[in-house]
Amino acid sequence: MIKLQKNKGTVINLEPCRHCKREIETKKRQCPYCGTLNPTVKIKEIAIGIAAVTIIMYAVSFFINSN
Ligand SMILES: [Zn+2]
Repeated sequence: MIKLQKNKGTVINLEPCRHCKREIETKKRQCPYCGTLNPTVKIKEIAIGIAAVTIIMYAVSFFINSN
């Protein structure tokens, strides 16, 4: 098992950019290669977030209308 370590105990997490697929640090806010914002945030995660907000909005409007 190979573990990528920098200095002592510092593990760098790498994830592919969703646009150019190059490995970049997960903490990066912008891809250094193609300039995509939040490059490690997956489209699926964004979709789940939008779906969650939509469900909450629907639940709130249903609750308001029921009174
Ligand atoms: Zn990129």
